[in-house]
Amino acid sequence: MPEVKFISVESVRQASRLIKERPPSEAILMAGGTDLLVLQKHKLIAPQSIIYLKGIAGLREIRPDGNGRFVIGAMATLDEVARHPGINQSYPMLAQAALAVASAQIRNKATLGGNICLNSRCWFYNRSPFWRSEYPECRKAAGGNKCYVVPKSRKGCFALQSGETVGPLVALDAKLRLVSDEKERLISVEEFFLADGIDYLALEPGEVLTEVLLPAAKGSGAFVKFRPQNNLDFATFTISVLPPRNGSGSRIVVGSVATRPLRARKAEMMLDQGTQNPASIARQAAEELSLVSFVRGSVEFKRQVIEARLHEILTHFEGHRSRNYEVAHAGV
Ligand SMILES: Cc1cc2nc3c(=O)[nH]c(=O)nc-3n(C[C@H](O)[C@H](O)[C@H](O)COP(=O)(O)OP(=O)(O)OC[C@H]3O[C@@H](n4cnc5c(N)ncnc54)[C@H](O)[C@@H]3O)c2cc1C
Ligand code: SF4
Repeated sequence: MPEVKFISVESVRQASRLIKERPPSEAILMAGGTDLLVLQKHKLIAPQSIIYLKGIAGLREIRPDGNGRFVIGAMATLDEVARHPGINQSYPMLAQAALAVASAQIRNKATLGGNICLNSRCWFYNRSPFWRSEYPECRKAAGGNKCYVVPKSRKGCFALQSGETVGPLVALDAKLRLVSDEKERLISVEEFFLADGIDYLALEPGEVLTEVLLPAAKGSGAFVKFRPQNNLDFATFTISVLPPRNGSGSRIVVGSVATRPLRARKAEMMLDQGTQNPASIARQAAEELSLVSFVRGSVEFKRQVIEARLHEILTHFEGHRSRNYEVAHAGV
């Protein structure tokens, strides 16, 4: 590997200044490093400086804010999120999603912030240099201009949003605090993701994700991670469902199937309106999702399995209507 300058910073502003004053290809922020170091090893990124965030005090805390809401520091590890009693009690779908990521060793290093900002992934891109040397580089890799997933496309990349805590965070209407040396702002997790696999985050130059803000819990909801085998692997898709409260606010979010998490808005409306037919809601959701990538399963396969798993979740909710859907369902 080429020589890299490793800079451990003590404040967000220092990190922001350092990242802003260098070209994007030359410097990168690192949290747990569990994804970044793999990309570096595969020569997909070649930063000259790595700006290490873990030394920043106060970014690892998980705390209630006193008004029924929770704040999670971006540097909290996935293990800490998965085991936190308050998160388990109020937002079990988030705890389950964190627990479903990778392995215990990785969850001990990997952070929630890194999982949200995770680079988009594609079967043709996330490969060793040896594997990639067999065919011309694709558009996402430096110098390439082809896309193997949508060969007819003239621009854009369809690599998948793959951080598995993202679906539950969208369902929970979570917000992110982004801080730079000049300003700070809040953005919803849903708006944080863009429609392109190369330029995939609404992160402005110099911005660091510092906190995840969870509104007061509106019910437990359900989370499912689907993968062909129960091994250490990314999801083919995730489903996060939050049932309605007083006829509104339901969420059906499917993750890892597009450059951004997808909401099935028409199916959500059916849930809000009290439609008593789980099969038709599940069919509507599967039909309205805009899926294009055959990575990790053909579009038709994904549509069918999403429909089946969603039907299962909604039927499960139906049986527990008297408990206001307060049932968490983990299908990892
Ligand atoms: C074998 C293996 C299996 C895996 N399985 C899964 C899986 O099943 N599900 C899954 O979701 N992931 C999986 N991963 C990917 C990865 O481990 C996790 O997504 C992890 O949460 C990434 O967090 P991190 O702190 O290590 O991020 P890093 O690797 O440190 O960073 C990831 C990206 O986020 C950016 N970043 C990090 N923190 C911030 C911040 N605060 N502000 C702005 N940008 C930031 C970095 O610049 C980088 O681009 C796997 C990885 C491996 C090696
Ligand atoms: S979607 Fe296309 S351009 Fe993007 S990484 Fe995959 S093959 Fe490359």
